[in-house]
Amino acid sequence: MEKTQFKAESKRLLEMMINSIYSQREIFLRELISNSSDAIDKLYYKALTDESLNFDKDSYYIKVEADKENRILKITDTGIGMTKEELESNLGTIAKSGSLAFKKENETSDGHEIIGQFGVGFYSAFMVADSVMVISKALGSDTAYKWESTGAEGYTIVPAEKDAAGTEIFLHIKENTEEDQYDEYLEEYRLQSIIKKYSDFIRYPIKMAVTERKLKEGAENEYEEHVEEKVINSMVPIWRKNKSELTDEDYNQFYSEKHYGFDQPLKHIHISVDGAIRYNAILFIPENIPFDYYSAEYEKGLELYSNGVLIMNKCADLLPDYFSFVKGMVDSDDLSLNISREMLQHDRQLKLIAKNISKKIKSELQSLLKNDRESYEKFYKAFGRQLKYGVYSDYGANKESLQDLLLFYSSKEEKLVSLDEYTARMPEDQKYIYYASGESYERIGKLPQTEMVSEKGYEILYFTEDIDEFAINMLMTYKDKEFKSVSSGDLGFEEEAQNTAEEEKENKELFDYMKNALSGRVKDVRVSKRLKSHPVCLSTDGQVTIEMEKILKAMPNSQGVQAEKILEINTNHEVFQSLKNAFETDKEKVSLYTNLLFNQALLIEGLPISDPVEFTNDICKVMI
Ligand code: ADP
Ligand code: MG
Repeated sequence: MEKTQFKAESKRLLEMMINSIYSQREIFLRELISNSSDAIDKLYYKALTDESLNFDKDSYYIKVEADKENRILKITDTGIGMTKEELESNLGTIAKSGSLAFKKENETSDGHEIIGQFGVGFYSAFMVADSVMVISKALGSDTAYKWESTGAEGYTIVPAEKDAAGTEIFLHIKENTEEDQYDEYLEEYRLQSIIKKYSDFIRYPIKMAVTERKLKEGAENEYEEHVEEKVINSMVPIWRKNKSELTDEDYNQFYSEKHYGFDQPLKHIHISVDGAIRYNAILFIPENIPFDYYSAEYEKGLELYSNGVLIMNKCADLLPDYFSFVKGMVDSDDLSLNISREMLQHDRQLKLIAKNISKKIKSELQSLLKNDRESYEKFYKAFGRQLKYGVYSDYGANKESLQDLLLFYSSKEEKLVSLDEYTARMPEDQKYIYYASGESYERIGKLPQTEMVSEKGYEILYFTEDIDEFAINMLMTYKDKEFKSVSSGDLGFEEEAQNTAEEEKENKELFDYMKNALSGRVKDVRVSKRLKSHPVCLSTDGQVTIEMEKILKAMPNSQGVQAEKILEINTNHEVFQSLKNAFETDKEKVSLYTNLLFNQALLIEGLPISDPVEFTNDICKVMI
């Protein structure tokens, strides 16, 4: 029999596509099942306007059968079928989609969307089959036809026998080669899992004969096998169900079925949007940090479905980095997909959805903070750091929308507080939002720099994470209040400023001498406005604080960024009297004391001292 050649461009496309368009072979089944589902949909449409057809949903199905011996995988549907002409034009020409034409003629918007629109999916069968046979009978037609092809060489069409309307597709599965395994596409278990993965929410039942192994009655280890036809797909996706029908249990089950995490979700968010863009989404905030979360291996993203069919496992564009912990899925009928369904044609719709989703996540977190503090704090302990990164990254582009989600430990409350809570109870004379950085809450609590601020009754936020100061620097202000490190040059204390200016004048020579003794190590030596009982501390001028210096130093390509350090002296401390006395009688001693005090200040900050041996010898000198 003579073969009809594929149209020239189709032939080239066919070869190219089989080899490259799809990244995974297993999707051939998704494509064929989608086509079957489309074909049943078309019947459904017809029935809407043609009264002689009555669409009884129960008698429509898709069936997958594997015949291992003959290496045949058969996909049957009870859809609308194809005429000879349709076989010719739909399967003979790549990129001519019958489904698209049908869709254009029958624009409806009842959500019964037809999946196919490119006219290439069918050919993906050739990724796993060396020959494909299609027997189809169109609705209302007397004759069935058989289309057959072994790939690029062309195809034949001859009349065939078939009772009812619909289509049967026979794939002759390729033999295994050294590199490639094809046998798996005849394995019951494998086929089931592919169907579950991509086609679980196809609206019609996908049936398959499944072998069940049961212990023989009365026997201990004798089994009997029996084959039972089962519906593999769950058909109605949970995200299409009404929220009111669903329980926490249902969502939790979906979470673990989908392997979003091993934990239980802390919160689920079910979104159904029916506006300029239509989509459904189920999102989860996990309870625990995934083990690889703060590593480069972690991949953010949501599952993306187009009209119930899985398109992408991890669509990264749907989530901003600062919400990268969110798990879940999005289903939309409005996506225009590219030819392989593996990429989106235009990302305008996707961008809209992503924006919408971000907003929703944010408002859900906000309401969690407001209404269920305990859960929010649990969430924040796991993922708060990511939110702070969000404030800091992109030059602070998202800081405004994230600032109300931040919590910090408060010196006064001894628990996590929000910036809103902090500013709401600020005394009137308090100019700044104060913070102090260090390794742990305990160590920060003991920092000399916090003395005066606490004495004045002001609350101090404790920063223990690397990102904290960087994020706050990006934020700069909250509700018009500036952030201020307790170690920064100016703390905004008017009264103390006046007193110290006078004292500095009085003792100018001593301070100059000390500054000289520490030259290159500090920018200045000053009278402290922030100390009460401690003799000394370090403060900084400029943007870079001591904590930041430490963090930057630890980075692989640190460029030696240094904080501008100021050694501050508590002039009310007895040590200052000793310094003054020594300055009159023994300048050597002033140098010794100055070095000691500076090294003490470094130790308090958790900074290394450059010569520990000299330091211990200096202490001995004071003792003898
Ligand atoms: P698409 O689904 O994107 O249109 P395909 O290559 O998957 O492209 O299919 C091409 C065309 O062949 C479909 O549009 C449809 O008209 C027809 N077709 C494929 N499979 C079937 C089927 N099982 N029943 C009826 N028509 C089918
Ligand atoms: Mg298709």
